[in-house]
Amino acid sequence: MNKMRLILLGAPGAGKGTQAKKLKENFHWAHISTGDMLRDAVRNQTDLGLKAKAFMDKGELVPDDIIVQLVGERLMEADCKGGFMLDGFPRTVIQAEKLDELLEKLGEKIDAVVSIDVDPDKIVNRLSQRIVCDKCSAVAEPGKGYQIGDPCQVCDGKLMRRKDDEPETVRNRLDVYEKQTRSLIQYYQGRGLLKKIDGLGALDEVYQRTVEQLGLV
Ligand code: AMP
Repeated sequence: MNKMRLILLGAPGAGKGTQAKKLKENFHWAHISTGDMLRDAVRNQTDLGLKAKAFMDKGELVPDDIIVQLVGERLMEADCKGGFMLDGFPRTVIQAEKLDELLEKLGEKIDAVVSIDVDPDKIVNRLSQRIVCDKCSAVAEPGKGYQIGDPCQVCDGKLMRRKDDEPETVRNRLDVYEKQTRSLIQYYQGRGLLKKIDGLGALDEVYQRTVEQLGLV
């Protein structure tokens, strides 16, 4: 029931990961966050993590071939059979074209591309206040007074600030988004897959708009 294969598009900090977690709770689709996968690789000091770290710290994109291989392997895992959400991938038109090839080989296709829109000024603000778990990447709920060093509410990790959430790096990430990722909106609009969502407001409001747009209510 309700198998969906989605791409979540939107600037860093637009709320893609937060919406993906909620969709996963309700529909059980695999959540494939390339940012989380790369942060795991950095934490575990794998070859991939060592290659990716310098790009990530500056807010730049990790080379396409590394990411495409990572996603290709992930999409073959069993939990993707019931549907999946790609969060943070693709980020360039080359990645989008490679994704088409990967999906064709797997006999899968994308059902919809959800583009979450938030004003860039609000994003710098949002990300400079964001604190996340150093282990599972869960975002601490804003407005609840959580501090750096507090225990994570989801696992046994600790809350911290992501290095690439410093205002200067955030501006660079937004710049990279405008230059390299925004063109994907046209790419998917041209295929009739795009669903635009206003990303301003509380988690539940944005979630409601998303499930309505996807025809899930
Ligand atoms: P995110 O958590 O999605 O904001 O990703 C954090 C960082 O990981 C980005 O700033 C990039 O350095 C890297 N990254 C994540 N996904 C990709 C991707 N699809 N292509 C290239 N770099 C990526």
